[in-house]
Amino acid sequence: MRERPPRPPAPRNATARTSIRDALATAAQAGASATARELATAAGISEKDVADHLDHLARSLPTEGLRLAVTPARCLACEYRFTDRAKHTTPGACPACRSERIAPPAFRVEPGARTPPRARPPRAHADDDET
Ligand SMILES: [Zn+2]
Repeated sequence: MRERPPRPPAPRNATARTSIRDALATAAQAGASATARELATAAGISEKDVADHLDHLARSLPTEGLRLAVTPARCLACEYRFTDRAKHTTPGACPACRSERIAPPAFRVEPGARTPPRARPPRAHADDDET
């Protein structure tokens, strides 16, 4: 009998990411999106950290046949929409009218096209490690 090493504790960021995914799933069931602030509250982390996790989820979800749909941030003063914004954080000010009253972006998980995790060449002989 071989002793198994104790399982290491889950990394803190993985736990937060699970919380974010759970919150996104709950919102999706209600037909709603979740803002970075709501996700931050759900995961107990800062909005900036939520943005980092969302960046990661946006890349990893397609491997599960899902995608991260983003409702862009919007200026409450002039309705400017931050559609070109790559970052998942709330902008500080509106480029059109300089207002700082910005509705945060909202996120939801939707079915999407499944993509392979990473393009890598197929191994012709998987069991052919010995020569
Ligand atoms: Zn504006």
